[in-house]
Amino acid sequence: MAKIHFLGTCSGTEPMEGRNHVSFVINAGGFNYWFDAGENCSRSAYLSGIDLLKVKAVFISHPHYDHIGGLMGLMWNIRKIVTYFRKSLASESIEIFTPKMESWEGIYKTLQYTEGNFVCPYKINSHLVRDGVVFEDENIKVTAFHNHHLQTEEGEGWLSYSYLIEADGKKIVFSGDVKSTADLEALVSDGCDYLLMETGHHKISDVAEFVNARPIKSLIFVHHGLEILNDFPAAYEKIKAVKVGAKIVDDGDTIEL
Ligand SMILES: [Zn+2]
Repeated sequence: MAKIHFLGTCSGTEPMEGRNHVSFVINAGGFNYWFDAGENCSRSAYLSGIDLLKVKAVFISHPHYDHIGGLMGLMWNIRKIVTYFRKSLASESIEIFTPKMESWEGIYKTLQYTEGNFVCPYKINSHLVRDGVVFEDENIKVTAFHNHHLQTEEGEGWLSYSYLIEADGKKIVFSGDVKSTADLEALVSDGCDYLLMETGHHKISDVAEFVNARPIKSLIFVHHGLEILNDFPAAYEKIKAVKVGAKIVDDGDTIEL
């Protein structure tokens, strides 16, 4: 059975006790698929017993620090374990998906100045995210939908994406950061099993209203803004407005799909 491990659930705030920036891992078919890579994600994963060497792909929603600040550490830790303990990656390569190639290139450049020119006994392939199916294997299918969280320059592609993830017969929508819930319309209109939703830019009551009017089976808050972070008891009361039920996850939580 596929699982989601929540490694970080904070929005882009100042450092908070027990809560890192956003990142979660979907474990399906024995491999790990990472969605966003907020700071400390690989440290949290490793220390909680998640095998970093089972990584197959990493999907970044947009290049803001609270979504990508841990990507360098993730790549560094994987290589460290492979080279130091003479282990092998479960896959032949790591596929990195990012809407802004320059931010990955900067991370990779920095890694090359750390150890051994960052030569790895496996491939790291980078891919630019654009609308449509970005990845599909026997365990998971990931489709990208651009949203309006980030402005784009003339002639530049969209910089911020939400993902429709299909795994284990379930449809999971990850909002990334969105300008408004309207950005999610196309992803949820045919129904979904889980909406993994940010609240850095939205009120719980607005999200509840959106979810109540659409065929969404379950709402999980995964990237908490101040409305939640400043007052958890009040937030738990507010999520009762979601008819199908809602959950606010913490770092270290796991759900079975
Ligand atoms: Zn964010």
